[in-house]
Amino acid sequence: MLSVENLEKNFGDLQVLKDISMDVNHGEIVSIIGSSGSGKSTLLRCINRLETIDSGKITVDGEVMVSTENGKVEYANNDVLNEIRLKTGLVFQNFNLFPHFNVLKNITQAPIRVKKVPKDVAEKEAMELLKKLGLESRKDAYPHQLSGGQAQRVAIARALALKPVILFFDEPTSALDPELTGEVLKVIRSLAEMNMTMVIVTHEMSFARDISDRMIFMDKGVIVENCTPEELFNSKNERTRAFLGKYH
Ligand code: ADP
Ligand code: MG
Repeated sequence: MLSVENLEKNFGDLQVLKDISMDVNHGEIVSIIGSSGSGKSTLLRCINRLETIDSGKITVDGEVMVSTENGKVEYANNDVLNEIRLKTGLVFQNFNLFPHFNVLKNITQAPIRVKKVPKDVAEKEAMELLKKLGLESRKDAYPHQLSGGQAQRVAIARALALKPVILFFDEPTSALDPELTGEVLKVIRSLAEMNMTMVIVTHEMSFARDISDRMIFMDKGVIVENCTPEELFNSKNERTRAFLGKYH
């Protein structure tokens, strides 16, 4: 579903991603953990084209999004890039809902505008999603009227409305009070049960351990571990142990 090969990303003199290679298979759940500043968000942003890359190759659902030959970075044409964009969803730490749209319109905007789904169909599907996420009664609310947990669930519904083949989460619960974290993790769990392919950047260690097929530990722009949760939590690697030690 996703393949990243030898990805390099610099901000000026700062090497933020160093020779990153990783794959995500269909139906797999991969968590990415690591200290603040290790490059986790930049990796997701490169995959979702919110950042350009300096070198490497990224393939999504069999289509090459960007590749590098002889030092020259080449992105796919706009048709392919748009297709890939519609296939991937990204949920941010701070929800990023449109503040001037109500809940229903936040969810239906992209299907209607970008995918040309008829309005009544988009609204029907959005209501089904809201029902699943327990948010039916909030359809007319504006983002500022929602709790953080509700806002994040709406953001997840918005991503799902485009029927992505892979969903990325960047610290989806970091902006939430502990009592609201559970309701968002529950939604992610239900997506896992539906076999959604997901990449989740998180600091929720026990959740990640529980839900993930594989976990990736990043440190200072490199992948230190890419293994099962079991292997990660039993790792002998000093950097891994030092990082995990902070959570006990
Ligand atoms: P993480 O998500 O793991 O906390 P980030 O990917 O946000 O890490 O950041 C990795 C490094 O890249 C940090 O040193 C950060 O300061 C730097 N960085 C991130 N975005 C930018 C940017 N737009 N310009 C310059 N430096 C950046
Ligand atoms: Mg981050």
